[in-house]
Amino acid sequence: MFGFPKKDKKEKKVEFIPTQEQINSLKLFTYNKDPYRTKVFVHNDDGYKCDVCGTVPTFIYAGPAYCNGDIKRICAPCIASGDAAKKLNATFFDPDACDKVSNPDKLEELITKNPGYFAIYNEKWLAHCDDYCEFLGCLDFDEMDKLGITEKVSMLLEDNEYGYTLKEIKKGMAKGIIKLCVFRCLNCGTILVDMNM
Ligand SMILES: [Zn+2]
Ligand SMILES: [Zn+2]
Repeated sequence: MFGFPKKDKKEKKVEFIPTQEQINSLKLFTYNKDPYRTKVFVHNDDGYKCDVCGTVPTFIYAGPAYCNGDIKRICAPCIASGDAAKKLNATFFDPDACDKVSNPDKLEELITKNPGYFAIYNEKWLAHCDDYCEFLGCLDFDEMDKLGITEKVSMLLEDNEYGYTLKEIKKGMAKGIIKLCVFRCLNCGTILVDMNM
């Protein structure tokens, strides 16, 4: 027996551990305050150039992009500045999947200057206090513990539209058929959850 935990076979490459400075370099967005933690940017292992600015960024966007043509490689600053949306005629989240808020500029910022995310199916962007919420990630319960929101999320799930028990939800999460996409209101701090499946 060896004392080391076995590595996932798929993972041939040495795991990239970013510096705090590199993690902070991604913190450019109103509606996603920590894009490294929420996994919408991944390490640019293959050294791709950004299709917008031509630099080889440390991280590359891993979320949805609605635009014509091939899969695009995009760096965080090019999304934040709006250059990527302009140059590629792209949006990064489906406007029809966003809650309604009264100020159209907020929707514009959300879909053109903010990274989207993937869950399982029909991802949504939730709003509260007439503004879009910060995306905290599609989280497991360990991650929620770290953010100190487990209790709040569990309470919200008690009354879910599918009538699932918490135990059933956890089972579904373990199987990868349910994801909990968690949001926080930027104005009042309320936690919201979209149970994605
Ligand atoms: Zn770029
Ligand atoms: Zn609120």
